[in-house]
Amino acid sequence: MKYLDEFRDPALAAALLDRIRATVTRPSVIMEVCGGQTHAIVRNGIDQLLPDKITLVHGPGCPVCVTPMSTIDAAMHVAQLPNVIFTSYGDMLRVPGSTTDLLSLRAEGADVRIVSSPLDAISLARSCPNRHVVFFAVGFETTAPATAMAVLQARTHRLTNFSALVAHVLIPPAMSALLQLPGNRVQAYLAAGHVCTVTGIEPYDRLCREFRVPVVISGFEPVDLLAGILSAVEQLETGESRVTNVYARAVGAAGNTHAQDAVTRVFEVADREWRGLGSIPASGLRLRSEFAAFDTALRYDLSPEETADPSPCISGDILRGVKRPFECPAFGTRCTPESPLGATMVSSEGACAAYYLYHGRGRHSARERIT
Ligand code: SF4
Repeated sequence: MKYLDEFRDPALAAALLDRIRATVTRPSVIMEVCGGQTHAIVRNGIDQLLPDKITLVHGPGCPVCVTPMSTIDAAMHVAQLPNVIFTSYGDMLRVPGSTTDLLSLRAEGADVRIVSSPLDAISLARSCPNRHVVFFAVGFETTAPATAMAVLQARTHRLTNFSALVAHVLIPPAMSALLQLPGNRVQAYLAAGHVCTVTGIEPYDRLCREFRVPVVISGFEPVDLLAGILSAVEQLETGESRVTNVYARAVGAAGNTHAQDAVTRVFEVADREWRGLGSIPASGLRLRSEFAAFDTALRYDLSPEETADPSPCISGDILRGVKRPFECPAFGTRCTPESPLGATMVSSEGACAAYYLYHGRGRHSARERIT
């Protein structure tokens, strides 16, 4: 199969569903790691079409959702400093901090701007030499290479008015941490295809060996996801645990080595706090000392302090796969995309937003959507 339509083919999807139904004999819990996969699953009604024995839970693969409140608060502190232009991906602006959010700060006069790439922030720094431009660097292995390139460009251009507030996190250590949580229910993973295009397959081989958990690298179309679920179910039924790649059209064994090289030049691995998951060893990236001049945290002496979360939001449970959005008492009542209480409703990749958009309104039956 070469073309996108083939991965949305209703006949193929129905055949895969039949094979899943014929294969499954025992209860299983499968986590799709990426928020993009969650949206595709819920949008296409896949969760409703699967046999009852299969439970899909939704993982921490949404960068906006896993950025802790302490980091959001640090971002808001910096955004209010004199002479700062604070730049960010748009999704981060509505995430509640402990008192307010970046969008509200902008309405009150802070110079907060949306960029689509950190390279836009570099251009801004070059065109505004008398202002300091901060880029809020969030995201996984997929966005870290662009931040690395921006920092390298800043050094090439000898910019003294650009820095990055780095909050990048790494997915395989989080997958490992989830499996070690008390009460873990996850028996198999659909790994995040986009992350795997960068990382390649090797980090997942280690995870499989250590925890004996099936890991299926999957894409984002219905046929990708159903093929991934089928592979996970087949392994769980036979007691196998290996990495399978049903997204081979995008993911090679070695991943994107150019992107990996850029990240390794600029960053080193560090422990990192995740919203809902706590501190996970070796799960984040920080700038190497030779790039300290571009580190917002050092420039403004930001110490990462734990911030108490006053919200009733249970997004931590959602991100750990312990609960699903409709189990939150605020879902669809006090918490909606227009008036979100938590990051998983704010983000376009958040699980709560997916359920609200595709289940909350019940426009079509699940079967109508993919068959
Ligand atoms: S529905 Fe809202 S309050 Fe509940 S977990 Fe999701 S984001 Fe948090």
